[in-house]
Amino acid sequence: MAKFFVKETNYLSQRNKGLFTSQTIYQGEEILKCTGKEFSLEEAIAKGELESNVLQVAEKGYIDFEEPGVLVNHSCNPNAGITKSLMLIAIRDISTGEEITFDYSTTMDEDYWTMKCSCGEKTCRKRVKDFKYVPKELQEKYLQLGIVQAFIEKKYKIPF
Ligand SMILES: [Zn+2]
Repeated sequence: MAKFFVKETNYLSQRNKGLFTSQTIYQGEEILKCTGKEFSLEEAIAKGELESNVLQVAEKGYIDFEEPGVLVNHSCNPNAGITKSLMLIAIRDISTGEEITFDYSTTMDEDYWTMKCSCGEKTCRKRVKDFKYVPKELQEKYLQLGIVQAFIEKKYKIPF
């Protein structure tokens, strides 16, 4: 049985859809593998892609994020994250019926896209930008969880 299903979302989302859990997903559990055709920033821009449709996987490398992964919406207080092997994992227990989210900034270091956010979290940053603009404490949390892409992680000192 699939761990999630697609439903209309309350988040600001280009596709008005999101992924919701169909069972409890426990902290550390794998949810889905992020897949898509690889392309460059220039190609992404030329295609008129938005940040919500592409996933940055290298300094100049992107994937044309496919479903279902592309349907995972951003939250400033997410319950999932993307590991360096591009696996979406739960970073806390996610109860049945909750929408699955990750923080888009954990894959962004490009000085190009930003995205408006109204996720409703107390810690909402209002605009999703590159990882370097994320508050330090949150950067450290994400780095320790191992859910920051390697091309960004290498710019930060890991405390272990
Ligand atoms: Zn937010």
